[in-house]
Amino acid sequence: MVNRFCKCYHHLAGKPDAAANFYNDRFIPTHWALNYFKLSECWGVSLMGCCKDCGGELEEIISLPNGLTGDALFQAIYDIVQTVHPYDVKSDALGYYGRCKERSEFYKRRDNRKQSRRSKEFLELFNDWDREAARLWLEKHFPPEKHTEVFRDTGGSLFSTVVRMAQDNGDFGKAGAILDYYLPCEHEGSTRERVKLTAYEFDFVPILNYGCEGIYIDCYLKGKFDESGRSSIHVGTLKTLRRDLECAQIMGELCGSLMHHAFEYVNRGENLHRYTPAKQLEAEYQRQLEQAGKADNDE
Ligand SMILES: [Zn+2]
Repeated sequence: MVNRFCKCYHHLAGKPDAAANFYNDRFIPTHWALNYFKLSECWGVSLMGCCKDCGGELEEIISLPNGLTGDALFQAIYDIVQTVHPYDVKSDALGYYGRCKERSEFYKRRDNRKQSRRSKEFLELFNDWDREAARLWLEKHFPPEKHTEVFRDTGGSLFSTVVRMAQDNGDFGKAGAILDYYLPCEHEGSTRERVKLTAYEFDFVPILNYGCEGIYIDCYLKGKFDESGRSSIHVGTLKTLRRDLECAQIMGELCGSLMHHAFEYVNRGENLHRYTPAKQLEAEYQRQLEQAGKADNDE
């Protein structure tokens, strides 16, 4: 379904099949995207691209079947991204062909990608809140093939996971009733910075304070969480509109829970592996190969 037009389109509008013909001639896809606030309300996958003539942004949306959730939803999104090829025909003999060469080349490149690249791009489609569920789905269906291939968390996805762990543990009992919202930082303002966490020498630090309209818990990572040289990033916020003592005490207790669950999560063996710096993973992998080689020689 055509969802966007560039400036070249106006003189064609209104003619039968104009939109489809227009896209057929000019649409060059560049990447896939999901635009949603709640994943359960996501109804389509976007193929983003540009106009061959003016370079303007174009978007084709491929609808998802209604009512999918959990694994079935991830599978449907994955299948669309890997196989659908709007406006081109695919034949066994010729590969992709259609009215726009650049588009056929995009589909061909897509089909030639390695699994590790497919998995990483799939993970990038999701908001921080859903990144963990998408990662678990990937690890189940397309487990990484090498010691060095890991699916990283982002600052916002770590925050989301920690909030979910606290909820599952019943720690939101009192806070749940007074909270106005809790959001990973990617939802704030226009910046969608997503810091991938590639080191584990950091603390998860919830900071409790009065804000302009209530009490806020601002969660930060402090220490070494990637290779950027920064030592502090904001990853998410929980907020209540009340300002009284009882409320301050409840929010304080919640800070303790969040700190605890973050520590438990990051230091769990399989997660620690995903937070290990790339260089260290590479060194560990080389050692494993050498050991395996030695074992072969000994036989
Ligand atoms: Zn155009």
